[in-house]
Amino acid sequence: MSGESSIPFVDLERQYLSIKDAVDAAAIDAIRSTQYILGEEVTLFEQEFAAYCEVDHCVGVGSGLAAIELALAAIGVSTGDEVIAPANTFFGSVLPVLRRGATPVLVDCIEDTANIDPVGVAQAIGPRTKAVVAVHLYGQPADVDALVEVCAPHDVAVIEDACQAHGARYNDRRAGGLGRIAAFSFYPSKNLGAYGDGGAITTDDSELAERVRILRNVGQADKYTHVAAGANERLDTLQAAVLRVKLRQLERWNTLRREHALAYDRALADTGVRTPATASWAEHVWHLYVIRTDRRDALRDALGARGIGTGLHYRLPLHLQPALAQLGHRRGDFPVTESWADELLSLPMFPELEPVEIETVAAEIRAFDGA
Ligand SMILES: *Cc1c(COP(=O)(O)O)cnc(C)c1O
Repeated sequence: MSGESSIPFVDLERQYLSIKDAVDAAAIDAIRSTQYILGEEVTLFEQEFAAYCEVDHCVGVGSGLAAIELALAAIGVSTGDEVIAPANTFFGSVLPVLRRGATPVLVDCIEDTANIDPVGVAQAIGPRTKAVVAVHLYGQPADVDALVEVCAPHDVAVIEDACQAHGARYNDRRAGGLGRIAAFSFYPSKNLGAYGDGGAITTDDSELAERVRILRNVGQADKYTHVAAGANERLDTLQAAVLRVKLRQLERWNTLRREHALAYDRALADTGVRTPATASWAEHVWHLYVIRTDRRDALRDALGARGIGTGLHYRLPLHLQPALAQLGHRRGDFPVTESWADELLSLPMFPELEPVEIETVAAEIRAFDGA
């Protein structure tokens, strides 16, 4: 390869330009409505996103973290409880557990998909276990049926962390409707992203939905009747207006991501890097396309020198995070997670990525591989 490539890891400007007229109009309408808090756009988005996820209820909240925290609160997780979570996820999957005063109990992941290992979950369940955070890592659903089977006899709730999995399916069911309650993030770079922070819970359980609806809005049941120590964690009207426009594109965008993943798979097939595996039950939505190589840092530097952006999701597992030192873990506790952490590399992935850019990235990896 010759010449300077410049391929960003994510490019939100391309996406904005592709929907500019519709999203500008929606934002201006939302501003002109002056219904800035819990305006009609929020209600409409909640209805549309619930329908998209094929669930009965969606409640818009302030972020993905807020969605997980309010889901835990609605289920009744509090001080002294334990919540099981994978060791290889974004810190945000377990920070809400700490904020509830509960203790995260970490388990290792499966070698193939990097999703939480149901066997590890079965071993981690104890008398204080209230819930499992099932993270659909990189956009691929965790083995939810296996988790539910392990959890149900102990009355342990499966909470989906679907923050990377808008539109993904487990067999024929959508992420968001696979456990008792699910949390989504609309952080700008997510498959469905707002123009600021945003999040939602989805569930078929009307009681849980109602509890989150009250908790997100300062614990208010009726105007100035406060029935719980809730939070100010409402989804902004302006963000809901943006999300409604973008939701109409989500299926198309996820299809493009799948095409890009296939193109990467083919172009990298006979190189020394390992391409990602997809479980038989999964319709993956490729929030991230993560390869593995034992020369990860050198490859990342080489790609960076050619102007190709990459990411490390996640280079420091939760059990080695300073903020979780109180759990008393050490290197070696979760070997599968650790080998992933040392080898993983996220390649550029977003719907507007051009096929020629994928070819360029792959060619640079092949050149590195042969060097
Ligand atoms: C993005 C993300 C979150 C948190 O979402 P925010 O909206 O940034 O609070 C939680 N878990 C996972 C797996 C995520 O990717």
